[in-house]
Amino acid sequence: MQPLRTLSLWMDQLDEPLCARPALREDLDLDVCIIGAGYTGLWTAYYLKRQAPHLNIAVLEANIAGFGASGRNGGWLMGNLLGEDRLLASLSPQQRRASIDLLQGIPDEVHGVLQREGIDCDFRKGGVLYCAARYPEQERTLRAYLDDLYRQGMREEDYRWLGPEQLAAQLRVSNAYGAIYSPHTATIQPAKLVRGLARAVEALGVPIYENTPAIDWQPGEVRTPLARIRCQWMVPAVEGYAASLPPLGKHQLPVQSLLVATEPLPESTWQEIGLAQGQAFSENSRQVTYGQRSADNRLVFGARGGYRFGGRLREDFNLTEAEVELRRYLFSELFPQLKHVRITHTWGGNLGMARRFRPHMLCDRQRGIALSGGYGGEGVGATNLGGRTLAALILNQRNELTAQPWVLDNRPLSSLAGWPPEPCRWLGYNAIIQSFVHEDRTLANPASAPWRRRLASSLADFMEGFMH
Ligand SMILES: Cc1cc2nc3c(=O)[nH]c(=O)nc-3n(C[C@H](O)[C@H](O)[C@H](O)COP(=O)(O)OP(=O)(O)OC[C@H]3O[C@@H](n4cnc5c(N)ncnc54)[C@H](O)[C@@H]3O)c2cc1C
Repeated sequence: MQPLRTLSLWMDQLDEPLCARPALREDLDLDVCIIGAGYTGLWTAYYLKRQAPHLNIAVLEANIAGFGASGRNGGWLMGNLLGEDRLLASLSPQQRRASIDLLQGIPDEVHGVLQREGIDCDFRKGGVLYCAARYPEQERTLRAYLDDLYRQGMREEDYRWLGPEQLAAQLRVSNAYGAIYSPHTATIQPAKLVRGLARAVEALGVPIYENTPAIDWQPGEVRTPLARIRCQWMVPAVEGYAASLPPLGKHQLPVQSLLVATEPLPESTWQEIGLAQGQAFSENSRQVTYGQRSADNRLVFGARGGYRFGGRLREDFNLTEAEVELRRYLFSELFPQLKHVRITHTWGGNLGMARRFRPHMLCDRQRGIALSGGYGGEGVGATNLGGRTLAALILNQRNELTAQPWVLDNRPLSSLAGWPPEPCRWLGYNAIIQSFVHEDRTLANPASAPWRRRLASSLADFMEGFMH
């Protein structure tokens, strides 16, 4: 097995020993059995146990807490939900505003828990900058996106346009056309969050059994290699690993995202670049890039990875030279001074993508199953909302958490949309991604004729339409 410290820069930075907690060796009778010790499972355990200390809860983890995406992500803790515009579309303006407030409050909610539990994960709420910084078309799409956000009920204090000079006060990129700034995002050190949460949950009296995969499950019962667990409620919180618990894999596809981190950069370089408040940033192309300045002054930068035929998980995240060089190329376009910088860490992870890119928080009361997922690469904050919501659903509360359009209460798992079978998924995914790559190459080339640029973007728009 891959040494745990090499899973990500974040795991490597931990100053705790990375040894597994004991595995489960005896049968259990539980109120709630949580499968997976990533953010979703741990937030659910946390909110449940705080509100209902009498509940008998345990967490089963196939590897160690934070082995999945929660210990490997880009550290953007966002106050939103993937595709929230579509999810909120049917609500009245007042309801929509209340939902937006709930989402935008996520970073502060997390911050409150960090303070209460003494978890230090380098939390900095510096907001996020979505930059038009590589080609002029990015400004057009970003401005259209901003108009859309205002139509949905966002206010200027939520999202605002920064011209090149205003952007330069926060971030200096070589070719700035402007940016959208939103204050509702924080950056964190992901592994410190997930490991700290695991300790907080244990301190509340929830045992975490590591090296304990769930190998079979049915309503009321989970089997691991050495034990059988009977439970009233089951919370499969395995996100990108959904295929390990059939039939979840039908509803949630594993896709990969890949990151690199530079060596710590000198203060003089950061004087040139900025990001002094720990802002998250991306350049607005369909390469899905995301970056942050880590607390120890590295540039951490990621971009979309891939999808494997049949939804096979990627286990080996030794990035190929081409994968590293694509990320170096993308960040060097923004920061040419970093073109030859030393990259010390490269890694990646599997994340879960729900059909139509709709995150969901589902409660099947008949079968005693509650699950939250399909965050699609925007799960660091969403998992906190998911944990709070699943706790409310299991405790049979009716409140603003359970009244949201992404909550499917009293619904069977089969009510989630399923992905089409192979080879359709693989062909579809690759056709879409190829159109994105083609668009990016065309637009990044200043010599591309205007008609070529328009054609490439129209094709990518058309292909993106299939994703929804
Ligand atoms: C490379 C990368 C970058 C990302 N960057 C960001 C970002 O910057 N911002 C953002 O908002 N989101 C980001 N995401 C997404 C975000 O990290 C995830 O949505 C979130 O961490 C999901 O948490 P989770 O607990 O649901 O799943 P995970 O963290 O994946 O946890 C699932 C756990 O279940 C365990 N498990 C799997 N199968 C079994 C089984 N059968 N039995 C027991 N245990 C099992 C796994 O070992 C794992 O520990 C990123 C994801 C990746 C991969």
